[in-house]
Amino acid sequence: MSRWQDAIDAAGKLPEYMIVDGQRQSGSRAERIEVYDPGSGLSLGSVPVATIDEVDEAVQAAKRALTGPWSVLSPKDRGRMLWSIGERIRENVERLALIETLDCGKTLQDSTITVERAVDYFSYYAGIVDKLEGTTIPLGDSKVCFTERVPVGVTGHIVPWNVPISTFARGIAPTLACGNTAVVKPAEDTPLTAILLAELMQEAGLPPGVVNVVTGYGANTGQALTEHPEVRHITFTGSMNTGKAVMTAAASHVASVTLELGGKSPHLVLKDADLDRAVPDVLKGVFKNAGQICSAGTRLLVERPVHAELVSRLVDGANAYVLGHGLENPDMGPLISARQLQSVAGFAERARERGLSFCAGGNPVTVETCEGGNFFEPSIVDNVSSDDELAQSEIFGPILSVIPVNDLDHAIEVANDTAYGLAAGVHTLDVSQAMRFAKAVEAGQVFINGYHGGSDAVPFGGMKDSGIGREKGLTGLDAYSQIKAVTISM
Ligand code: NDP
Repeated sequence: MSRWQDAIDAAGKLPEYMIVDGQRQSGSRAERIEVYDPGSGLSLGSVPVATIDEVDEAVQAAKRALTGPWSVLSPKDRGRMLWSIGERIRENVERLALIETLDCGKTLQDSTITVERAVDYFSYYAGIVDKLEGTTIPLGDSKVCFTERVPVGVTGHIVPWNVPISTFARGIAPTLACGNTAVVKPAEDTPLTAILLAELMQEAGLPPGVVNVVTGYGANTGQALTEHPEVRHITFTGSMNTGKAVMTAAASHVASVTLELGGKSPHLVLKDADLDRAVPDVLKGVFKNAGQICSAGTRLLVERPVHAELVSRLVDGANAYVLGHGLENPDMGPLISARQLQSVAGFAERARERGLSFCAGGNPVTVETCEGGNFFEPSIVDNVSSDDELAQSEIFGPILSVIPVNDLDHAIEVANDTAYGLAAGVHTLDVSQAMRFAKAVEAGQVFINGYHGGSDAVPFGGMKDSGIGREKGLTGLDAYSQIKAVTISM
């Protein structure tokens, strides 16, 4: 265990405060949230639980910042500021990745990629700030009409625990690009990199109050932020039920929302697919980040002629997975918390009670040298019926449900047979089959012959109960600016 304590010590002093109006704040409540390393169970310190008044202070700071030095930066200088923030993050990739791994358990390699992704969001949006043009609208010779994009105001960001740093940057970079200010509430389990990012932004020159971070529980601090009448837009990533609560809170003061609410994404393998490519892709599609990814391909739909061979190869692959502490770059790290482990184990237990059996994994597991960690085996259940809980609910853990299908039409029917519509994948060498699937599947993004291939430039978001709105890419700017039309009568 002491090696994990040594690693925690090597990360340096971890933040135990919030950032409001450019100041570190320790909060007025005696109650604090203890933060744990999910790989070892060791404490990383604690953060405050912001009261309603402290959330209000943060919103007021963000509101003041809307008319301060931030508001008079020229678009070119605002773009330069975003670029500098990206560069400041880049200079700290190693430390941020280490802390992200300690905070949320993902492998160091994945944490490094997500910190680099955070850099990408700032550099991508840095380049667009001075190109946010309006339009002119023809109204005849006696009138001139033009539109411009103006900021929406203070934006609220509720960030989940599964990919904390890049989810933070995915919302903050475009909101700053559009000239807004922000208050962020990170997940209670993973607050650390949000606080550090807010400080790095100030070091890069961002004026105080432009980005504030309040820590606390979702049900009080998070709700206070979403209910605040001066928050004009809320970006939320998390579960469907909380998303509905966020939307209700936003409705109380007519704020707009971007909701990214997870999925139960189908990954289809047709009989002509190159199985050498499909096998690692299906495994990575479901087991990356221990299955704690909203767009994970958790339902494998496989055409019957290749069903037995594919499942046998996937079982071999899953059984070969090495589990361990994220800092050791294993194939798979721990789940975020004991609570999440219990939730995933509950899905497995109920599946067994319904008569399903696991052909790989299916149980919590103790990993040598990580006795306090929250590990669950990479798991596969074959012949799951499409209406089973395993095929319908977002488990957010490493469980793959296999559903055999007769042909493409049957696959499309099964693929669309959930409330969700976030992502989908297909493996086939027949481009017509791939395109028929891509057009028919109800999903915000479709991957052909390669799952999880997104980038900062590709719009991301869900259909049906997977959410509202799109993040990333140029489309991601729409949530953070509003159109003003000006008509001049001559
Ligand atoms: P939640 O949806 O409850 O939490 C996501 C974020 O919302 C966290 O920052 C949380 O804060 C905050 N929050 C919680 N309640 C409120 C509220 N009433 N008002 C405003 N903010 C709130 O997810 P859980 O962490 O409870 O995880 C449960 C399940 O949700 C997972 O098993 C998974 O299925 C799904 N999930 C999906 C994610 C995705 O990427 N789509 C991400 C995370 C979870 P706090 O952490 O302090 O409670």
